[in-house]
Amino acid sequence: AKSQGKNRYVVHTSELLDVMMDEYMLEIDLRRALEENEFVLHYQPQINNDTGKLVGFEALIRWQHPTLGLIPPGKFIKLAEENGLITQIGEWVIDEACSQNKKWHDAGMTPVKISVNLSTQQFLTGNLIPFMKDVLKRTAIDPAYVVVEITEYMAMEYNYSIQVLEQLKALGIGISIDDFGTGYSSFNYLKNFPIDYIKIDKSFVGELMNNEKDAVIVKAIITLAHNLHKEVIAEGVETKEQLNFLKNYKCDISQGYFFSKPLPAGEIEKIYLKQLRP
Ligand code: C2E
Ligand code: CA
Ligand code: CA
Ligand code: CA
Repeated sequence: AKSQGKNRYVVHTSELLDVMMDEYMLEIDLRRALEENEFVLHYQPQINNDTGKLVGFEALIRWQHPTLGLIPPGKFIKLAEENGLITQIGEWVIDEACSQNKKWHDAGMTPVKISVNLSTQQFLTGNLIPFMKDVLKRTAIDPAYVVVEITEYMAMEYNYSIQVLEQLKALGIGISIDDFGTGYSSFNYLKNFPIDYIKIDKSFVGELMNNEKDAVIVKAIITLAHNLHKEVIAEGVETKEQLNFLKNYKCDISQGYFFSKPLPAGEIEKIYLKQLRP
């Protein structure tokens, strides 16, 4: 789209065609990517604010494309949701993340939790619970070290959502509300859903030190979460100042570039596994 005086949003036919072509090619590529195992997970450390210790990782998908290089999820998740491939991709994510975490436990790393992002489709289709059971059995991971992240949007199917979450809970899996405060917030689900963690969206954390309103919102989320007996995770923590603010207001866990960007498993091992070896 180009800006042209009065006609501000002129989309040229050729550009539109380019976009459609790109999407079409990407869709064909996505199918191959699943078969050829081109997806990888990167892991971002989550740090306890009191102890400074590692308590978990969030698994974040990337696509190692043979010619385009490493593609971030923002470029293909939406497409995968539209064409239905997201369910298969999401199942691969759960499987890979649980297997990896179990490997790390077995290798002697102090056990920490692994969080995976669920897509709306994955959450709303019937196969999630059987699939979870199967993965837990197959990988032999202790479910106490598995967390799923859902968004407020997924909580909107109130009766269905609560049922799925209760079943996940019964399996021993932790539940986190991602991007809290940016979606369809409702106090009703906070009250009734078996949620363990609330993640403060990075848009609030990013503006914490410059915008009084964001600071007020962050403080309010922490208080609300704690009074409901939930732990608070701040995402997008990039500076010492943000971390100090979050610590002052008793936010439990931090995640962000200040500590580490998401890293491939091999890099994680260099940092966290070598310390355990004599
Ligand atoms: P999200 O779940 O909110 O993940 C946090 C995003 O913030 C990640 O982007 C992460 O790399 C980025 N981030 C982490 N620390 C910082 C920081 O300090 N500053 C800033 N500016 N950003 C930070 P990423 O990996 O590109 O993922 C984007 C989104 O894609 C995720 O947002 C999530 O919604 C989705 N996604 C990622 N992996 C999966 C997956 O396996 N399944 C599904 N369904 N969605 C996924
Ligand atoms: Ca997330
Ligand atoms: Ca998030
Ligand atoms: Ca976010």
